Amino acid sequence: MSFSDMPVDVGPVYEGERIRGNQMYVELGGPKIKKHFELVRVKSAKEIKDGDVRLIGPDLTDMEEGERYPIGILVEVAGPELEEDLEAVFERRVHEFCNFVNGIMHLNQRYTNWMRISKSAFAKGLNNFEMLGTILIRLYKAELSIIKQAQVTFYTDAKEIEKPYEMAMQIYEKRDERARTIHDEDVDMFYGCVLCQSFAPTHACCITPDRTSLCGSINWFDARAAAKVDPKGPLFEVPPGECLNEEAGEFTGVNQMIKKRSLGEIERIYLYSGMEFPHTSCGCFEAIDFYIPEVNGHGIVDRNFDGVAINGLPFSAMANQTGGGKQMPGFNGVSIQYIVSPKYQSYDGLQMGLDGGIYTIVWMPKAVKDRVGEFLPEDLVNKIATEEEVQDLNKLKDWLKENNHPVVETWAELEAMEEEEEEEWEEAGAMVPMGTVGMTIPGIGGAGGFKVILKNCKIHAESIIIKKIEPKRRKK
Ligand code: SF4
Repeated sequence: MSFSDMPVDVGPVYEGERIRGNQMYVELGGPKIKKHFELVRVKSAKEIKDGDVRLIGPDLTDMEEGERYPIGILVEVAGPELEEDLEAVFERRVHEFCNFVNGIMHLNQRYTNWMRISKSAFAKGLNNFEMLGTILIRLYKAELSIIKQAQVTFYTDAKEIEKPYEMAMQIYEKRDERARTIHDEDVDMFYGCVLCQSFAPTHACCITPDRTSLCGSINWFDARAAAKVDPKGPLFEVPPGECLNEEAGEFTGVNQMIKKRSLGEIERIYLYSGMEFPHTSCGCFEAIDFYIPEVNGHGIVDRNFDGVAINGLPFSAMANQTGGGKQMPGFNGVSIQYIVSPKYQSYDGLQMGLDGGIYTIVWMPKAVKDRVGEFLPEDLVNKIATEEEVQDLNKLKDWLKENNHPVVETWAELEAMEEEEEEEWEEAGAMVPMGTVGMTIPGIGGAGGFKVILKNCKIHAESIIIKKIEPKRRKK
């Protein structure tokens, strides 16, 4: 396979390339554009015109520099061994293959796809979708030899994208609906995926019936089909082995897998916890489950929410905290589909004396609640606040009390425990644990220093470096 006829280089070496706002020629899809998608469909050979690239809407040369446009990418493939279950896994490769192109940055998946074309790639001649489509078709056929024919259609017109967007949303929902029919105890094989290791080298997804991949695009059926056709590929079998802790979802086979795939960095995973040995998060998660110490509950914020979450942070700030292949108790990347699973962070709920993990959830964006509400316990759904009811933490506590949210029952016990602990430390004349004090560090951040208050936190760090940053001198 050669790309010598292309104006820019193509290869895995360019995965992970970042294109900042001031470097981009145009942005396609992303959070500021309403309807965008990418979809792969398996078709019969006679429905495919092999190598064909179609564009519905303006081409790159018709676009204005610095602007944003819709993007729909429909890849249709054929081959005698192909089956519908492989569509989602093929679809996830759009991310990888676009990122092979020097001068293209691709993030996310499904209806959250987000691309940037760099000014330098455009100047070099990457100025039409025909080239990108040709690159995708060549990569699909070369990297996945069971694909024998492929064609690509791009949609860049806001009106024309509507119909295929609705079709894509229906197909995603159909896949999710099927995934809801089975549970972890129904199967004797889990699956792993390392497609995101170019961005997060210590991250590997463990995909189980209850825990759809955190990017939301690969469910257990999809992973099973992919591992069957390409067992040595990025999706592979993970025999669960012995179950060490049923409530937490800790399995010897999953621990072995993450240890091997993270090159020894991560040793244990609790599949059903965001607080203890949580599943690693890359950067593609659909949503974040975050702990809110002020109410001893959890919030969920999804990628499409463009406001500030109940803890005062936007999704982007929490995503930086959560992603990169780290294991970050209190911040856990999750798929929307996982939220409706009965296993959803069930360990965390049970630890708090609640009926399940979903009962820890006190806040989520309205759009997410509209999507998952019908699958949540009836006695809970009206007790979960959204941005429409509560916008800041000060009001959340009262709102939860008024609505009798189950976490309220945990407050008395928690307060009693805290008081007891403080008394014990005082009596023992022991060092006051850092998690409960305000620290003033003189000389930093101005004459008065600054105060760091750490509540109910766990910190694991080899060292903490605090550096004074000298103000830059202005050149005369
Ligand atoms: S988030 Fe997980 S399942 Fe999805 S592509 Fe990345 S590694 Fe694979």
